[in-house]
Amino acid sequence: NKQVILRDYVIGFPTESDLIFNDTTVVLKVPAGSKTVLLKNIYLSCDPYMRIRMGKPDPATAALAQSYNPGEPIYAFGVSRVIDSGHPDYTKGDLIWGIVGWEEYSLITPNFSHFKIQHTDIPLSYYTGLLGMAGMTAYAGFHEICSPKKGEAVFVSAASGAVGQLVGQFAKIMGCYVVGSAGSNEKVDLLKNKFGFHDAFNYKEEKDLYGTLKRFFPEGIDIYFENVGGELLDAVLLNMKLHGRIAVCGMISQYNLEVQEGVHNLATVIYKRLRVQGFVVSDYFHKYLQYLDFVLPCIREGKITYVEDIVQGLENGPAALIGLFHGKNVGKQLIVVSPE
Ligand code: NDP
Repeated sequence: NKQVILRDYVIGFPTESDLIFNDTTVVLKVPAGSKTVLLKNIYLSCDPYMRIRMGKPDPATAALAQSYNPGEPIYAFGVSRVIDSGHPDYTKGDLIWGIVGWEEYSLITPNFSHFKIQHTDIPLSYYTGLLGMAGMTAYAGFHEICSPKKGEAVFVSAASGAVGQLVGQFAKIMGCYVVGSAGSNEKVDLLKNKFGFHDAFNYKEEKDLYGTLKRFFPEGIDIYFENVGGELLDAVLLNMKLHGRIAVCGMISQYNLEVQEGVHNLATVIYKRLRVQGFVVSDYFHKYLQYLDFVLPCIREGKITYVEDIVQGLENGPAALIGLFHGKNVGKQLIVVSPE
């Protein structure tokens, strides 16, 4: 069973040497009388929050995610096939998505973060993104936290990524005006020509982010879906309309910093009576079936499209994961561990 192990807690940007491989000869088995399930992993998801788990245990981030244990396999969302089960709800051959180890085979005890896959007319890999955790994040963050209304002006950062590309498309379905930012011209092209954002810009080519946002939103931003933090957030705050809403989904620009830099314009929250709310997707997992009711018809009718960045082989997983922090992924980053 090939596994990916965290060598030690990571400080600063992660590198490939932080993740090492282990090949164990231990044959995993469902112990008699247990409610465990033995899985063969098919796809593994690469997600930015995994960097938080790679850091030292920290009371500030513990409410989001516990640290991985050095010397043990890391874990994340994946899509897997049941090959043996002691659990009454799972039988051999079932497909599931949920938390599994970064390894070829996992023995799990199913919990609230494991879902049986019922709809297989949609690409199975989508359960690492559009029909999995990233999709739920976009749905809960946009619809529950932002309270969008038709005609409102929406800005999305990291807009071509796993979550952002969906927020933009959900905003369009709501009849909002939506602009996205991304870190390359290729991604900007995707935003405008594939995902249907009304407009988009490459934040790396803009000298004055405040002025850039003013240009796209002369009357201000009603809703900001925050994925990156840092300087962009500072510029967004000053461009918010009165009573605007900000869903704080993530702040990837901060995850590798050792000392958190202050958010300089945060006092704007007061002056502009903004509603700024952080959220964690797992609090919304009970709404997964509601999300499927909304999103499956959209996919089948061609109203939602999804771009994935698929890497072959567990051995290429660490590089793919680290690439997220350098903007290497174009769309949802995932790894193929074994054929479907
Ligand atoms: P993406 O697919 O968007 O991949 C990460 C992208 O972030 C990169 O491709 C890059 O895009 C951008 N990025 C990387 N470093 C920086 C930086 N320093 N400054 C600005 N942008 C950067 O990831 P996801 O869609 O999976 O996640 C998006 C955000 O949502 C993350 O912050 C993540 O932590 C958060 N999240 C939160 C959840 C929750 O429950 N609250 C659940 C899931 C995700 P580019 O080339 O455009 O810079």
